[in-house]
Amino acid sequence: MSPSAHCIFCNIAAGTIPSRKVYEDDELFAFDDIKPWAPVHFLIIPKTHIPSMAQAGPEHAPLLGRMMVLAPKLAMEQGCNPYPEGGFRMLVNTGAEGGQDVHHLHIHVMGGPRPWLKG
Ligand code: 5GP
Ligand code: ZN
Repeated sequence: MSPSAHCIFCNIAAGTIPSRKVYEDDELFAFDDIKPWAPVHFLIIPKTHIPSMAQAGPEHAPLLGRMMVLAPKLAMEQGCNPYPEGGFRMLVNTGAEGGQDVHHLHIHVMGGPRPWLKG
């Protein structure tokens, strides 16, 4: 069985674990975090199973670039306020010491009025 069969985010991208979908295309999937820290808090993931940024190589640069530029568009659509008074935070936890709990690469996108639960 492939590692992705046991991966919670592979299963969310495949629709076998339900989520509130924010966006989907052939390479990427975005969905609301189940325990939001901020009024807007969603995750952008690649559909392909990459464990973390520690495994990202030059071959992933176009995919990672697409994730980065998708974030501001989705942030506005999901209710973040405009820059500079508003804005949003993008966060990629990597490895245990980096605070990563789910080992399928994901960008957290958080925004909305303060205070937030964390940070
Ligand atoms: P990490 O700590 O790995 O950077 O973040 C993992 C995030 O995934 C956490 O913020 C957590 O709330 C979220 N998460 C974990 N399991 C699920 C789930 O089953 N569904 C959704 N929507 N989010 C999840
Ligand atoms: Zn996965």
